[in-house]
Amino acid sequence: LIEPQAVPLERVVGPEIGSWFGELHAAHGVQLRLGTGVVGFTGGDRVNGVVTDGDVALPADLVVVGVGIRPRTELAEAAGAMVEDGVLTDARLRTSLPGVWAAGDVARWDSALFGRRLRVEHWANAHDGGLAAGRSMAGAEISYDPVPFFFSDQYEAGLEYAGHVPPGAAARLVVRGDPRSGEFMAFWTEPTGSGVRLLAGMHVNTWDTMDTVQSLIRGRTMIDPGLLGDQSVPLEDLAG
Ligand SMILES: Cc1cc2nc3c(=O)[nH]c(=O)nc-3n(C[C@H](O)[C@H](O)[C@H](O)COP(=O)(O)OP(=O)(O)OC[C@H]3O[C@@H](n4cnc5c(N)ncnc54)[C@H](O)[C@@H]3O)c2cc1C
Repeated sequence: LIEPQAVPLERVVGPEIGSWFGELHAAHGVQLRLGTGVVGFTGGDRVNGVVTDGDVALPADLVVVGVGIRPRTELAEAAGAMVEDGVLTDARLRTSLPGVWAAGDVARWDSALFGRRLRVEHWANAHDGGLAAGRSMAGAEISYDPVPFFFSDQYEAGLEYAGHVPPGAAARLVVRGDPRSGEFMAFWTEPTGSGVRLLAGMHVNTWDTMDTVQSLIRGRTMIDPGLLGDQSVPLEDLAG
């Protein structure tokens, strides 16, 4: 695995939790080359190697390139819709063009909950946003304002993540449970009053917790960080 960041998934989950995922993959035999970029491929009709930015040539039978997506906004732009890292919509998922809605990876909607425009590249948003756009087209006065959510399965680790940490936010990490046990939760928080409130929460193999996490985020609930990190306190009890 060749990754330019110092830690896998660092941009999404930060260095501590990203390291946990790095160790998980290493324990399954993956060689991690971190802080390393790819500058080219070698081969003829088919690839036989990868060249890193350290000028190291690595042999490869197969290369999987996972570098994110760029939304295809050309059609919307050509039609005159407002586009800025995605097709801009209001809370009813209407674009700036009459009779045109946008949902899913391509849509950047106005989130009252997070006080900013959001564009989310995950399955749940494509599913829920599609349904919401349909209702909006049919005349319902919806307000699409989800707590973003995604899931992933990596070996024996099933994870779910809900929330949004704005880029550059100095979120404080609170961990509940022992990551070495393979079952834990992680929360990204910001100070509020005499406690913290959740920006995002994630679990690994600690199922049926995401509804509570989402309601704590949506309710902007003030929480004692000590209780948040204390496994003996049911998460539901923190909701007030
Ligand atoms: C490798 C991979 C792994 C993923 N894993 C997860 C995961 O574990 N969990 C998770 O939550 N999400 C995951 N996702 C993200 C999830 O798949 C996407 O968020 C979801 O598919 C987005 O749905 P969508 O309908 O908005 O866009 P898409 O599925 O991209 O569909 C858009 C469609 O529009 C078509 N299109 C584009 N331009 C035009 C045009 N001008 N005219 C006509 N058609 C056009 C495209 O060809 C495409 O078929 C993953 C994505 C990838 C690529």
